[in-house]
Amino acid sequence: MQQLAIFGGTFDPVHWGHLLIAETALHQVPVEQIIWVPSLNPPHKQAVAFQHRLEMLKLATKDNPAFTVSLIEVNTPETSYAINTLIDLAADYPNTHWYWIVGLDTFQTLPRWHRRHELTQMCDWLIAPRLLGGENIAQSELICKQVEHQLRNQSIIIDWQLLHIPLVGVSSSLIRQLIRERQSIRYLVAEPVRVYIAAHNLYAK
Ligand code: ATP
Repeated sequence: MQQLAIFGGTFDPVHWGHLLIAETALHQVPVEQIIWVPSLNPPHKQAVAFQHRLEMLKLATKDNPAFTVSLIEVNTPETSYAINTLIDLAADYPNTHWYWIVGLDTFQTLPRWHRRHELTQMCDWLIAPRLLGGENIAQSELICKQVEHQLRNQSIIIDWQLLHIPLVGVSSSLIRQLIRERQSIRYLVAEPVRVYIAAHNLYAK
């Protein structure tokens, strides 16, 4: 049975934190492929056009043969939910053990996800610790255990592990803010992504 990981996100834009998380999952678990799934209509966010986010994701991931960018959410008529994505991907990749990659902040919202009972039966969770305000890895683990406990109260048992990555404070919001303030984003995103953003004048206002 093959092992694949889904990495969903808005990727507005994709940054080094995302790439580091995906690369770590490849080696730590190990999984054979990371399937990057840019959301078409993120449930809680406003984002630049899907085509721009997709193009930047392709540019950032093209050098890594274990990275695949999925267009699965293009066929999602309205809001994209994880459960729909996983059901669709499972049909395309039979005989697969699935992992879902999330940052710690996203993982904390799992107890409220749409159709979480079904979703959590279909995949295990790889959690990237995230600097949310001074946490260290031990605190990240504690937060994960709290989420696990909340889910258990809903009769949901999950399988999860923390990814061992250096805590990275970079976020897409930070990148957007730096661009608005006309500061440099070099080394915070892959170079072709930086060039793409400049060429299309993205996030400038
Ligand atoms: P924004 O700042 O706009 O909220 P983001 O940087 O969180 O964006 P997303 O595309 O929303 O980027 O993130 C996709 C996934 O990657 C989410 O699960 C998020 O928690 C995780 N993630 C993003 N950046 C980091 C980081 N620096 N460390 C750990 N996890 C991260």
